[in-house]
Amino acid sequence: MHWTRRDFLTGSSILAVGVLGRPSVSAGQTRTPGQGPPASQPVEFRSLRGNVGIFVGQGGTIGWLISPDGVVVVDAQMPQTAKACLDGLNARSADRPIACLFNTHHHSDHTSGNGVFRPAVQKIVAHVRVPELQRAAARPGTEAAQVYADTTFSDRWTVRIGPETVTAVYCGPAHTGGDSIILFEHATVVHLGDLVFNRRLPALDRPGGCRIAGWIARLEQIVRDYPVDVSYIFGHAKPGGAVTGTRDDLLFQRDFLSAVLDHVRGAIKVGRSRDEIVNTAVELKDFPEHGPLTDRVLTPAYEELTQGA
Ligand SMILES: [Zn+2]
Repeated sequence: MHWTRRDFLTGSSILAVGVLGRPSVSAGQTRTPGQGPPASQPVEFRSLRGNVGIFVGQGGTIGWLISPDGVVVVDAQMPQTAKACLDGLNARSADRPIACLFNTHHHSDHTSGNGVFRPAVQKIVAHVRVPELQRAAARPGTEAAQVYADTTFSDRWTVRIGPETVTAVYCGPAHTGGDSIILFEHATVVHLGDLVFNRRLPALDRPGGCRIAGWIARLEQIVRDYPVDVSYIFGHAKPGGAVTGTRDDLLFQRDFLSAVLDHVRGAIKVGRSRDEIVNTAVELKDFPEHGPLTDRVLTPAYEELTQGA
C-alpha cells in the first residue's frame, strides 16, 4: 500500500482558493426514552469547507459531504444519534440519495448506527477486515443483529460525487487492524477515524489489531505525504476539545504514543515487573492534559513491546 501525493494533487490546486466554511447550523437534541443518551446529549452539525462537515453526537465524529450531486457519510455513531444525523442530512440535502456510508473501523461507537443508515444508503463501505473484527467484538448473541459493511476493499476504494472524489485508504494496523482514513480530495479534508484522540487517552485495542508502532508510522506518513493545508477530522477529543484540526495535532498524537512506548520500554529495561508497570498510574511530563496513564494504555503497550506485533 502506498500513500502518495497524487492523492491530493487535484485537491491541492483547487484548494488554493480555499473556502473556509463558517461554523454553521444547528444544535439540537435527540433522545429515545429509556434507552438513549441523556436529554442533555447535544448533537451538532458543523460545516468545514467544500461541502464537507461534521456531526457531533454520541460516539466517533461523523463526517459528511452534502453536494447537489449526492451525499456521503463517514461513520455511524450509536443508533440514537445516527437517527438525528440522518434526519439532519436529509433536511440539509433535500433528501438527495446517500451514495455510501463508510466505516473507518469496526468499533461499536462508529458502527452501531449502521442499522439506522442502512435503508437510506446505497452501500456501506469498509476495509475487508472490518466486518470480521466487528463480529468478533460484538456482545455474544448480538452478532446476527449487527449491520455490516456490504462493500469491502483491501487497499483503497473511491467514489466520485460531482466534482468531489472521496477515497478510503487502508492504514492499519494502527488504532485497529482495519483502519481507513477517508480523503475528500476537492475539499482537502481527511477524516482520520480514530487515528487521533485529541488531547485525551486513546483506546488501544490490541485484540482488535491495534499496533502502536504502526499507528505512529501512519501518522508520520500522513503528515509527510499530504498537503499542509489539509483539515483533519478526529474521532474523539477531550471533553470540550476540538474534533477537527491540523497536522500539528497528528504530530502531537504521534509524540504522545511515542512517549507511552518510551516510558514502558524504560520501565522494562530497569527490571520492573509487568504488574508494577501496568498498575503504576504515571503522568507523562509533557502530556499533563492526558492525566495519568491507565492500565488500558499501559497493558497494550507492554504487550506490544514484549510479545511483538
Ligand atoms: Zn475506535
